[in-house]
Order: sequence, then C-alpha cells, then structure tokens
Amino acid sequence: MPGVYLSYPFCAQKCTYCNFASGVYPRDLEHRYLEALNREIRTHAWEWEPETVYLGGGTPSQLDPADLAHLLELIPGAPWAEATLEAAPGGITPQVAHAWAAAGINRVSLGVQSFVEREIRRTGRKHTAEVVAAEIAILRDAGIRNVNLDLIAGLSAQTSGSWDESLDWIARLAPEHVSVYMLEIDEDSRLGKEMLLGGVRYGASDTPSEDQTAAFYETAVERLAALGIARYEISNFARPGYESRHNLKYWKLEPYVGFGADAHSFDGILRRQNPESVTGYLTGAAPEAVAAGDDERLFIGLRLAAGVRPTPADWRRFDGPIRRFVEAGLLTERDGLLRLTDRGVMLSNEVFQEFLT
Ligand code: SF4
Repeated sequence: MPGVYLSYPFCAQKCTYCNFASGVYPRDLEHRYLEALNREIRTHAWEWEPETVYLGGGTPSQLDPADLAHLLELIPGAPWAEATLEAAPGGITPQVAHAWAAAGINRVSLGVQSFVEREIRRTGRKHTAEVVAAEIAILRDAGIRNVNLDLIAGLSAQTSGSWDESLDWIARLAPEHVSVYMLEIDEDSRLGKEMLLGGVRYGASDTPSEDQTAAFYETAVERLAALGIARYEISNFARPGYESRHNLKYWKLEPYVGFGADAHSFDGILRRQNPESVTGYLTGAAPEAVAAGDDERLFIGLRLAAGVRPTPADWRRFDGPIRRFVEAGLLTERDGLLRLTDRGVMLSNEVFQEFLT
C-alpha cells in the first residue's frame, strides 16, 4: 500500500547543522506556498488509497492546526495506518495536540537532536529537556502514543558524558521510536561549512572527531537495544511493531507520492522530484523524472537490519564485491539473504558505493 509525503519547508529558525532545503521565509510566501500545496494535492489523480501519510520539511508543526486539518482532508484513506507529523519541541499545547489527533495524526516525530542545553543552544534551537518531557506527556494525553525522538551524534560541544545524558533522557521518556543521525559535514549547513572552511561562529572547533562520533553512535545502538529499542535501519530504532511504516516504503522501494517543494515520488518505475526551492515550486515548474536504477534495490535494502535478498541478476552483476565484503566482515550472507554486519554499518557508505553504478 502506498504512502503520501507532504513537504512544509518553513522553520522558525535555521539550525546550524541543517542541510535540508528548508528555512525562514516571509509569512506571505508561506501563505502562497500553502495555497500551491493545496492545489497540487487537490488536482492529483488518486489511483489508490494511501496507507501512510508523512508531513515533513521543515517544521510542519508550525502550520495552523486548521490549515493542517484542511490539507489532510484532501488525502483519501483516513484513518491512515500511520500519519506522522514532524514537530519542533516547544509550543505543543493540549489544544494543538488534540487538534492534530482530530485531524488524523497518530505519530509525532520530535526533532530533539540533544537533551543537553549547551548543545541545543549551539544549534540555534530553544527547547530544554523538560519541555520535551512535558510535550510528550501532552501528546500521549491527546491520544498520540507513537512518538519518535531524533538525536544527532557529532554536535558541537558534545562529549561522551553529554551523549550519555541524552541517552539517559531517552531511557526516562521511553519513546516508541528513536532516530540517531551522525552529523553530516557538507557545505549545505552553516556548521558543516565552518568545519570544512574554518570559522568560529557555530562551534566547529568544538565538534567531536569522526571516531568519537562513530563511538557515540555505537553506544546508542547498545543502550537502545538494552531498552528494547532495536535498530531496524541504519539510523532508525524502534520497539517491536513501531518501525515507521511510511519510511519502510522508501527502503523497500514501495510506491509513494510527494507533494510540495523538493518532494519526491516513486511509482515503482520512475522517480519524480518537485522543484527544490520554495520559489521554484511556486512557479509551477514540472517535476523532474528519472528512471529508478536496477541497483537501487540492493543498496537501499541493505540499510535494513533485516537485509535484502539479491536477485539472480544482482548476483551476476555484484558477485565480486559481495564476496569481497563478506570476506572483509562487512556483509554476511545466509540462505541468500545479505546483511550489513555492525562493522559494515559503520562503513556503509563505502559498501554502498560499490553497488552504485
Ligand atoms: S533541522 Fe528541522 S527545524 Fe532546524 S532548520 Fe532544519 S528542518 Fe528546520
């Protein structure tokens, strides 16, 4: 069953680590965007009823709850098996949480990133650990009992002690799902750019080394497993039954349709991408379409802890690299099922590179 993704690339601030096509824009642009998004959904020819809906961005939680409800009314298939709203901590009141639940939202993904104030402030965010705790309680009271918390390993001022502190909060708050990302260092974020090119504004000199960041990730894997929150994808961990049904569609190459700026769609054969910028999207430019590669299933499927079963064609094509990675201890192969080992997860980019043709 397919999924629906809605992109809302507006935020209250631009976080220093963020390399998404999101930002702070004038209110007027936000109104025009909302109209265009409504139009795009209204004019879509639905050939199926979606099973999942995911509102990301950006910060779709800053949408007026009435506007959010109106957007969701345009999507068939309610109540969906999973309807996720990405939210920034701060500002979730009982009224807002009840309005989200009434609109069909049954899962909230909170972009916490860290529970340690010094780290949070360096990212440009304003929440505290106590605010996150209070808002999770509000969500649960409103009937939203499937909560994801995002953490980032590698933030400025992060130490093994502060990372443990964040993981202690995870243990205390007992979310159903946790995503752990390692800081991406590229020129698309202000912190990444500073790390690459120098500067003193965003705390680049105070970021942990790559090895430390990798060690933080490994600590998270162990501590989350001990809490019953198991890794099912490189960056994603869940209690049994709470794996993200929507995100699993991306990794299993199931179809989904995306609406809004930079939203991607996949119909099983073609991938389409809407214009990346808000202004580009507002021009109404047609999405770009590219054929999905034959190799995608293998390297995307390898992201999953459950592994992937190479087809006979995959074996003919990649027999050499697969054997090499198995010998090097980065992959395991059992009964035709291929999986990354723990070491393979840490070196996954190098493994995937070989399967990208
Ligand atoms: S991290 Fe999230 S809230 Fe921060 S700028 Fe990026 S999309 Fe917006």
